This record gives sequence, C-alpha cells and structure tokens, in this order.
Amino acid sequence: MTENRLHKDTLVVHEGYDSKSHQGSLAVPLYQTSTFEFETAKQGENRFSGVEEGPIYSRLGNPTVRVLEDRMTALEHGKGTLAFGSGMAAVSSILVHLTKTGDHILCSRGIYGCTFGLLSTMEEKYNITHDLIQMRTEEEIEKAIRPETVCIYIETPINPTMELVDLYAVAAVAKRHGLRVVVDNTFSSPYLQNPLTIGADFVLHSATKYINGHGDVIAGLLVGNDKEEIEQIRMSIQKDYGGIISPFDAWLLIRGLKTMSVRMERHTSNAEKLVNYIKGHPLVEETFYPFDVDNPQYDIAKRQMSAGGGLISFTIKGGQESAQLFMDSLSLIKIAVSLGDAETLIQHPATMTHSVVPEDDRLAMGISNSLLRLSVGLEYADDLIKDLEGAFEKLEKVNDGKKIK
Ligand SMILES: *Cc1c(COP(=O)(O)O)cnc(C)c1O
Repeated sequence: MTENRLHKDTLVVHEGYDSKSHQGSLAVPLYQTSTFEFETAKQGENRFSGVEEGPIYSRLGNPTVRVLEDRMTALEHGKGTLAFGSGMAAVSSILVHLTKTGDHILCSRGIYGCTFGLLSTMEEKYNITHDLIQMRTEEEIEKAIRPETVCIYIETPINPTMELVDLYAVAAVAKRHGLRVVVDNTFSSPYLQNPLTIGADFVLHSATKYINGHGDVIAGLLVGNDKEEIEQIRMSIQKDYGGIISPFDAWLLIRGLKTMSVRMERHTSNAEKLVNYIKGHPLVEETFYPFDVDNPQYDIAKRQMSAGGGLISFTIKGGQESAQLFMDSLSLIKIAVSLGDAETLIQHPATMTHSVVPEDDRLAMGISNSLLRLSVGLEYADDLIKDLEGAFEKLEKVNDGKKIK
C-alpha cells in the first residue's frame, strides 16, 4: 500500500485534534458536560435532523470523546470508532448489532470469560447459538459454518492461553462465505496488530488495558471498516442501550494513548527477557509467548503481529497448589486481574478471569489449573526476574519437603 499516512508513533500524539479550534489549548480540552446549548430553536432542530453538524447531548456524542474515536480510527486503519464505558459494552454492542434470534456465531476456542458469559445468555434468552473451535485450518473453520452462521468472533492472541488464530485464514473463509469478522484485539493493542488491514470488519478493545495503560479507567473501543455502519450503531445500539464512555475517561485514554508506542516497546522488551528466564526454569512445564522461537505458532505470530507484546502465560509443576503458592511468594509482582498496566501483574485464570467457564469448557480452551498469566509491566526487567527467582526458590523448598516460613 502506498498510503500517505503518518506513522502510528505520530498518530497517537496528534491525530484528530487541532488546537486552533480550541483557543490553542495544547492538551485536548475536557468537555465535562452532559448537554450543549443551542443558539436558537432552529439550530436545535437542525442538529437533531442532521442538517447541521454539532454536539447535542453527550450520550449522542461529545467533542473530547470524538478526538479519542478519531485517533483510534487512524491507529486501527478503520473508517469509524465508537467509545464505550467498558470493553464488554463494546463486545455486547457489536454482537447485538450483528445477530438476531436463530443466528449462529463461530468463535475461537478461547475467549474472554465475560464474553463467554454473554454468549451463554444470548443462547439461553434469544436462541443465538455459538461454537468454540480451534481454527487451525481453513477446512476446520469451513466445516463448522452452518446456514445460520452470521459472524466469526475471535481473539488472537487468546486470553489467557496466548494461542494464536491465523487472521489470514479466518478472513479468507469469511470472504468466501459472506461472514462478518470481529476481532478482540485487546492483547495486541493497535501497536502490534491491525486486523482490519487483514480483512476483519470490526476490531474491538478493552481500552482498560494497553490503550489506557495506567490501570485507572474501564473503557472499550469498537472500530469498523465502514463509516456508515459505525454511525448507524452510534445512533441505534449505542444511543439506545447507552453504554457510552464518560468524557473524563475519554480524556484519560487520550493521555494514556500518547505513550502507547513507547510503553509497548518496553512491555515487549521486558517480556522477552522474562520469557527467556521462565522457560528455562525446571519448575515450569510450558511457556506460551507469540514471538518465542520455540512456539509452534511462531510463523503465524510473525505474519500478523509486529512484536510479541507484554503477556506471557506458563504452566507450573504441581497444579493449582503450586501455582497459588508461587503467586503468594511474589512481592514486586502484584496478584491482580487486568493487564497492560505499568505494574507487572499475575493472575490464575482457572480461579479468576475464567472461573465462570464450566470446567470441561475451560480445559477444552487449554486453561489448566497450573496455568498462570503474567502481564509484564514497565519496571526494570532484572528486578522482576529477581522476584520470580525468589518465588521459584520458595516452591523448590516446599517441593523438597521443607517447611517454609
Ligand atoms: C478485559 C478484557 C475484556 C473486557 O473488557 P472490560 O474493559 O473489562 O469490560 C474483553 N476482552 C479481553 C481480551 C479482555 O482482556
């Protein structure tokens, strides 16, 4: 493509904002208002009828939120974006938009726990069914398509197993069968992977994670490759279901997004160092990281991602008991769900993020009781390795039958 566009490192700082229209304010102003005053009754009429552009009421659009949306559109190579009050509001809005009673959704075999919960509710209440499949080959995807299938909904890398789904294969099958493709791109951020350029129709993010990057906002973003369709969702599902973002949270996301490139580089370089340490440890069974050369899916990772990112998962010898003791033996690394923050976080998916998934389904997703997920933060890598080392040493002592203090 010979697209004349600015580099993403520049877009995160500048896109969608011109200070000249805002009294020269270098920082994007926070329009912390619920409603907007019209100059005349006629102007109000014209805004509502769409004859005149301009803000009306913050559930229908807000200038601060709009800067965030326009910036995301450019970063994901899309045509339009909607900002939501949570990642799950973005997930539910796109699924409500794409499906009706009787339809079928084809999903990657691992999906976020609450997305799984939502799909179960949709099945129970509206007979909108779904299947979770591994999607190893185009044939496998094709075989799972039913006459009622309307969309393919995937995560890659999958939370929390770090398994990859081949975006090119999914896009090729979807095109042949006229299916819409939705990709939850939370784990990669727009910095590492842009599914719309590979053929996806929608990309969504829990902006709570890498986009904000500072662990102080819950928010979601939905980017589409069709401006009209995005505007249609804005003026129907988003307006009427009401899952909007607050202007202040949008303002914080704009601030967080400015450093996304530098943060992702550090998250990645730190994760690479930690992977090398973890995978060599005798108490570790398996390590999962997209850009690990020993990863059997390394070729897929290289094709669709620009780097491995900040998430690592690994299984530890000794099952749940060892996994929990390992977590309790860390001090710098915090026990918490969520990811993409400055702080390195560890969680136990089987009993935390994916505890809502019935055990059989959970094991089929590859989430065993000995799996741990590490979100590598921005600290100094050697300090993190020392913390891991200490926790492994405690485990070793227990394994040797010695009592720990
Ligand atoms: C966190 C997360 C979500 C949900 O986002 P919220 O902002 O918590 O609502 C969805 N998908 C993935 C992959 C996530 O990690």
